[in-house]
Amino acid sequence: MEVENEASCSAGASGGSREYKVVMLGAGGVGKSAMTMQFISHQFPDYHDPTIGDAFKLKCLIDCSMANFNVLNTYGTAEFTAMREQYMRGGEGFIICYSITDRQSFQEAAKFKELIFQVRHTYEIPLVLVGNKIDLEHFRQVSTEEGLSLAQEYNCAFFETSAALRFCIDDAFHGLVREIRKKESMPSL
Ligand code: GDP
Repeated sequence: MEVENEASCSAGASGGSREYKVVMLGAGGVGKSAMTMQFISHQFPDYHDPTIGDAFKLKCLIDCSMANFNVLNTYGTAEFTAMREQYMRGGEGFIICYSITDRQSFQEAAKFKELIFQVRHTYEIPLVLVGNKIDLEHFRQVSTEEGLSLAQEYNCAFFETSAALRFCIDDAFHGLVREIRKKESMPSL
């Protein structure tokens, strides 16, 4: 699926566009598919389709520079499998998701940095941590402070989102591109 996102940029958007391979990670049911669908097509799917595991594409301007998103949605738990190794190798940046209503999904989110390290042998991989479903505040099991603290440990940006309300969804995806660009602009050691 490819959707062109129109945005205006006052001073000369960069003509060249660059592809960003983004991989969604997190326990089943935390809202990875819903976040991806909201980001790509502004739709909240009203049923859970466990077969969604495809790549989605979207072109949009971020800080006046064009970004071609290639978002790979994944499913399964934080176990080490051949398929997981494959997409962890290919991803340039990862959105690690949990649901604020599900403590176990937060515990799983805490395992991903180590899993990525096992494949990439570096901790210098752009990441964003996302606590989804904040529209379900009454059912909250993971505090904002706990999310922030894990993000500090991960040295990454942190967002609390609602795919249902399309709240902070763009911020999370754009935040990852900013992390990738930041890493690229740093001189390598
Ligand atoms: P995935 O397995 O991580 O891809 O999770 P899904 O995107 O399939 O979502 C699992 C369930 O949670 C579905 O019933 C969604 O409708 C629901 N869901 C996803 N995001 C939100 C959200 O932000 N708020 C609420 N209330 N429900 C959500």
